[in-house]
Amino acid sequence: KKRVYNFTEGSKEQKDLLGGKGANLAEMTGIGLPVPKGFTITTEACLEYLDSKKLLPELVKEIEEHIARLENETGKKFADEENPLLVSVRSGSKFSMPGMMDTILNLGLNHQSVEIFARKTENPVFAYDCYRRLIQMFGDVVKGVDKNIFEEALTLYKAAQGYSSDIEMKAEDWKEIVQQFTTIYLKEVGENFPQDPSEQLYAAVEAVFTSWNNPRAVTYRRIHEISDKLGTAVNIQEMVFGNTGGNSGTGVAFTRNPATGEAGVFGEFLLNAQGEDVVAGIRTPRPIQELKQDQPAIYMQFEKICHQLEAHYQDMQDIEFTIEEGKLFILQTRNGKRTAKAAFKIATQMAEDGVISKEESMKRLTPSMITQLLHPVFDEQMLAESKSVAKGLPASPGAASGRVYFHAQDAQKAHAAGQKVILLRTETSPEDIEGMVVSEAIVTSRGGMTSHAAVVARGMGVCCVVGCEQLTINEKLKQAYDGTHTINEGDLLSVDGTTGKIYRGEIKLDKTQDLELLVKVLRWASQIGNMQVRANAETVEDIRAALEFGASGIGLARTEHMFFGKERILEMRKMFLSEDQVQRKQSLETLKAFQKKDFAEILSLTEGMPCTIRLLDPPLHEFMPKTKEEYEQVADACGQTVDFIMQRGKDLEEFNPMLGHRGCRLAITYPEIYEMQVEAIMEAALELVKTGKQVKPEIMIPLVAEEKELTYLKKALEDKIQLVFEKHQMKIAYKIGAMLEIPRACLTADQLATSAQFFSFGTNDLTQLTYGFSRDDSVKFLPDYIDKGILEDDPFQHLDQKGVGSLMQTAIALVKPQHKDISFGVCGEVGGDPDSVSFLQKIGLDYVSCSPYRVPAVLLTVAQMSI
Ligand code: ADP
Ligand code: MG
Ligand code: MG
Repeated sequence: KKRVYNFTEGSKEQKDLLGGKGANLAEMTGIGLPVPKGFTITTEACLEYLDSKKLLPELVKEIEEHIARLENETGKKFADEENPLLVSVRSGSKFSMPGMMDTILNLGLNHQSVEIFARKTENPVFAYDCYRRLIQMFGDVVKGVDKNIFEEALTLYKAAQGYSSDIEMKAEDWKEIVQQFTTIYLKEVGENFPQDPSEQLYAAVEAVFTSWNNPRAVTYRRIHEISDKLGTAVNIQEMVFGNTGGNSGTGVAFTRNPATGEAGVFGEFLLNAQGEDVVAGIRTPRPIQELKQDQPAIYMQFEKICHQLEAHYQDMQDIEFTIEEGKLFILQTRNGKRTAKAAFKIATQMAEDGVISKEESMKRLTPSMITQLLHPVFDEQMLAESKSVAKGLPASPGAASGRVYFHAQDAQKAHAAGQKVILLRTETSPEDIEGMVVSEAIVTSRGGMTSHAAVVARGMGVCCVVGCEQLTINEKLKQAYDGTHTINEGDLLSVDGTTGKIYRGEIKLDKTQDLELLVKVLRWASQIGNMQVRANAETVEDIRAALEFGASGIGLARTEHMFFGKERILEMRKMFLSEDQVQRKQSLETLKAFQKKDFAEILSLTEGMPCTIRLLDPPLHEFMPKTKEEYEQVADACGQTVDFIMQRGKDLEEFNPMLGHRGCRLAITYPEIYEMQVEAIMEAALELVKTGKQVKPEIMIPLVAEEKELTYLKKALEDKIQLVFEKHQMKIAYKIGAMLEIPRACLTADQLATSAQFFSFGTNDLTQLTYGFSRDDSVKFLPDYIDKGILEDDPFQHLDQKGVGSLMQTAIALVKPQHKDISFGVCGEVGGDPDSVSFLQKIGLDYVSCSPYRVPAVLLTVAQMSI
């Protein structure tokens, strides 16, 4: 088994075996770039070592052979009296873990060779500087001596001499520092700094192997989900020196700007410096463009290499280089890390330049980059300096600061007065909608990811944190308590909807995003994707946003959201609470006028596209008055006594509203509500058709469990529609379908299919009813399930494939063979979850529908799955 590869032997495909750094050093050697010579010990050898806890003799033998070869090729020798060989020992695993593991430079120096080196290079300043660095790095990496002990000694020395920078240090100074470092080493380690280069080498190799398991590397892997079983390779490479004087230097550069994606070499360098100096922050590096003036020939050569490497790797590169006495060496290249914005810019630019295909450009983007691009984020530095006071569920991404208000009306007033407001509530209800619309962010102390606040906020693309149970909110007193402090009305608060964290005070936003690019990528994505993505939307702004992002229709327009305004909810209440048929009819007429206007708007915005409108769904109690005042209002409006109306309210009260009188059940009792709605839809549609527009209304009936419910309602609705057609002497095509959100409906979908023309899975309710987990209460116990490993994640966010998924598959299997023309969609939250979407595509859904602001990530995911 081969455990060591010369740089001339490997290639960039061997990242598993040689690590990213080693594979790329080999690749660059192969394409003839000026890379200092060296070899790579494999990750397999590392794993062997971590297993056996010692260097195997076979490995030692191979390393010896490669050292001999390196000595031959460079004409230098370890511990040579004439020409000592110095090397670096560099860690490097499959995935780059910047700064997580260790590297030692200048290995091979000792008390004697440093003198030879000083004489030979005629540069004692440089030689002693190299040696002190070796003692310091070796002490740190191999023996675990705190780097700062060395740094402090150096700082003290410089201060005593009145030096302000390392540049002022003379040979004698460095010699003195070498002396001090040797003493520190002896004191901290309890033995002398090893003088034998081979001993140094093997100790360094072992230390790099071991560093695979150092705590910061382990943590980094946890965070980035990198396997612990990969191991690190070790690269041993002839040293080149950037610190021999003003004609030398070192630097790091990206082939494009990693923050913005702009083309052009972007980086920093330092003259007379070694390795880490550029990133260490001891001296301030200079922009790479200045190298053009200092060393024009080198700069041109470097720029050429940047282009060459980018073309070779077909991606933006992050390159380390060193200049030794006017000669350029490349020490590392890798695909550069970049911001979401840069990722978009680079991927699209490269696709348009024909360097990569559009499909390839899709693969380089991730849903989380889209989230970052779409939503404002806090200024990174200010965020790092802020301490969060509470954490809830990240219900809707984004970031916002504003003044706290506890009531929707107060929020509206403050907003009207020009303030930025944060709505803080125990939970929200339909009446809060106007306050929610004007808020920068919404925070609730109760409720889960599918609570009212969460769903509405996501729909509007407003930042939202829910279930923030640490906060005790007293709406009456207009106060909240975070466990240590009180938050009062008008206080400044900052909310991060991406992490769920809440901060006191204001945090500035980093607003630099570019939607044009996103839209371009989404156009490509919808061409490549082979499943449709629609949006759950009913307001003008939401529908506009969804279509702009590339949604191919509306999969769920919720009509109840249209009753949430003050005026409309009063009519709703009148309708339910007045016993009187005449009054109900009258209220319905008023509501119809509202609805017709809404539908005309929706249908005209979605001209030519399918538009699924769901008839009234929510439980009765959501429409009921909550306060005495509200009861009085209704009583007033109905011309009834308050007592009568309150009694009506009592009569309608339910023990378990979510399982009670809601959805199509309400329409079984009061068919006139759905009849009014279809009348409004059809009248709006006909009027649009008369003006030459094309509309495709799909009327969806919620909460169906039994075939006869559907046949009964469908008949009633068709009769009504027939009347509308007769009145207008005109007909249009439309569909009537059902939501599949009750397990029974899935299990009897073949029977429903005799009446339904389409189906849409409502995965929120379907999950609630399949698990028996209340959507609104599960936030109280689901975290424990996840902590204890009983559930992997929240089934309301990521589809439960085994349970809910299998019900969906059952329904599809019962229907599709006989009714090819019946389409299946999903309109629950999981339709917007990239992780669930691939499953949904596999089981044969025709489309998924999600909040407008999730359409982009889903379009991208679908495109990626279709490649
Ligand atoms: P990291 O993975 O932390 O970047 P590296 O192994 O790349 O660690 O090395 C740290 C620094 O030392 C880099 O700036 C690198 O360019 C420099 N370096 C590594 N090997 C050599 C060498 N043989 N000659 C000169 N500089 C080197
Ligand atoms: Mg590096
Ligand atoms: Mg539902």
